[in-house]
Amino acid sequence: MLQRLREQVLEANLELVRQGLVLYTFGNVSGISRDEGLVVIKPSGVPYRDMRPEHLVVTDLLGNKVEGQFPQIGGVAHTHSEYATAWAQACKPIPCFGTTHADYFHGEVPVTIELTDDEIAADYEKKTGDMIVRSLSHTDAMAAPGILVANHGPFAWGEDARTAAHNAAILESIARMAYLTLSINPAAQPVGRVLHDKHYLRKHGKNAYYGQKSAEPNDRK
Ligand SMILES: [Zn+2]
Repeated sequence: MLQRLREQVLEANLELVRQGLVLYTFGNVSGISRDEGLVVIKPSGVPYRDMRPEHLVVTDLLGNKVEGQFPQIGGVAHTHSEYATAWAQACKPIPCFGTTHADYFHGEVPVTIELTDDEIAADYEKKTGDMIVRSLSHTDAMAAPGILVANHGPFAWGEDARTAAHNAAILESIARMAYLTLSINPAAQPVGRVLHDKHYLRKHGKNAYYGQKSAEPNDRK
């Protein structure tokens, strides 16, 4: 079942390893089949090197609010990559300090508020998902394809599993650059709105004009 999607999701999971975003069995990428209402996801605890398409787990979207609210999302990647996780642990959004960030994220990379003790005790995984959805409710999820879950780590998404893994790598790079920027100059300020909009909007949206469709998703500088 879902053989092609399984292969895509496996490949996207292996990309997390190639990009140095995961240790051991940490992290996962999932891919969504909208036609069938199913999600293919990496099983927890299976080493990446041993993973085959048939090891991937198929679940339905029951209880998964992403389906209804963000129909453009076809894949989600979650890692504990170090710099993005450091920002998440600090409970700080990542300011846009430059055009690398602006090319991918329209605005800062947001951070969720922390879950309450009751939410953690009752239904932790679902509440984490609900918190992400709530944090994105007033934004265009595709214009900021990632979020930091407070005290936990980054989640990134895209039109498919491959793009989600790509955006997870970009998010880690942005997080690292922002950290280094503040190390060099603790008083560094985010770029102005005009430069930010110029970089984001020339690549995204209906009037985008910059770059060629390339083999790498969104890999247009
Ligand atoms: Zn995690």
